[in-house]
Amino acid sequence: MRGIGLAANNARKTHCKNGHPFDEHNAHIYRNRARICRACRAAYSNRQYHAKRERMKAVSLLLAGGVAVELLVDVDAVMGVTARREDG
Ligand SMILES: [Zn+2]
Repeated sequence: MRGIGLAANNARKTHCKNGHPFDEHNAHIYRNRARICRACRAAYSNRQYHAKRERMKAVSLLLAGGVAVELLVDVDAVMGVTARREDG
């Protein structure tokens, strides 16, 4: 990292990466030192919720298909899903 780091850049931002303004109606939230706005955070939570539902559905299908529970320790790997951080 050079003189101009991520933290320094974040401190100057007035909008999030998706263009939502950081103002009193959409206050920024520091999360793991990353800045994320309410709108993005809500969208992220929503995606997480649906992703979890999809995983649970996949597990149900696999179990119904006779796959042993022991093989489901890493469902993400089974589905080829890679969890990605969306901070910022
Ligand atoms: Zn945003």
